[in-house]
Amino acid sequence: MSHLPADLTDVLRSARCVAVLTGAGISAESGVPTFRDAQTGLWAKYDPTELATPEAFARDPRLVWEWYAWRRELCAAAKPNAGHLALVELEKLFDDFTLTTQNVDGLHLLAGSRRVLELHGSIRRYKCFDTGRPLEGEPPPCDDPPPRHPDTGGMLRPDVVWFGEALPEAALMESIRAAREADVYFTIGTSALVYPAASLPIEAQRAGATVVEINPTETPFSKIATFSLRGKAGEVLPAILQALDQ
Ligand code: NAD
Repeated sequence: MSHLPADLTDVLRSARCVAVLTGAGISAESGVPTFRDAQTGLWAKYDPTELATPEAFARDPRLVWEWYAWRRELCAAAKPNAGHLALVELEKLFDDFTLTTQNVDGLHLLAGSRRVLELHGSIRRYKCFDTGRPLEGEPPPCDDPPPRHPDTGGMLRPDVVWFGEALPEAALMESIRAAREADVYFTIGTSALVYPAASLPIEAQRAGATVVEINPTETPFSKIATFSLRGKAGEVLPAILQALDQ
C-alpha cells in the first residue's frame, strides 16, 4: 500500500453513516487461518464444506465436534490485530457505524468494537442441536463428545451458521439497512464469494455509497469498488485512521 487516495479521506471526513463487512482475511494477521488455509495436518483430508453442515453433524457428531474444538483452540490463542483495533477507533468517529462480520472467531468483540453483527455466529458460543437453545457459559466436561445441553439433553453444537442453514434474520436485516444507509461502505478481507454477505457491498453501492475494498489480492468485487486498496487490513486501516487524524 503506497498511499491513500486523498478523495477517500475527504469522503470519510464528511461521512455520517459508515458500515463495514469483514471476512476471514482481517483475522489472518492474528494467525486464524482462512478456510482455504485451515486444512492442515490432521484435518488436511477433510473438506470444510463437508464438515460444516447439519448433515455432517448428524452423521458423525464427534468428528464435527472435534474439528470445531481444534478451530476453537486456534481462535482462543489469537489476539485482535492492528486491523481489528483500528476499526474500534473508526467506530468512535461516526454517528452511525455498523460492523457486519462473516467471521466466527469473536475477535471484533474482543478488540472492543461495540456495534458488531455476527452474520455467521460465533465459535465461542454453543447451542442445542435439536432445539437451538443457547448454552450459558462453557459445555460440561464429557468423555464421549459432543457434550449434552444441561437443560434439553440434546447434543451441543457450535453456535455458527453451517452451510445450508439460514442466517440470523435480525443481524441480516440490520446489515442490509446499514448497507443501504451508508455514506461509506468498507469490504475488508473477504473474497466476496459467499452470499448473501457478498451482496451487502453491492446493496451499498446501488444506494449511492462510496465503496472501499481492502484486500491484498483482487476479488470479484475489485472492479466495481470505488476504491480498491491493495494491502493488508492491519496496515491499511491504521493508515486510514492516521490520515483522518491529520
Ligand atoms: P475467504 O477465505 O473466502 O477470503 C479471505 C480473503 O481475505 C481473501 O480474499 C484474501 O485475499 C483476503 N486476505 C488475506 N489476508 C488478508 C489481510 N491481511 N488483510 C485483508 N485481506 C486479507 O473468507 P470469507 O470471504 O470470509 O468467506 C469464507 C467463509 O469462511 C465465511 O463465511 C466465514 O464465516 C468463514 N471463515 C471464518 C473464519 C474466521 O472466523 N476467522 C476463518 C475461516 C473461515
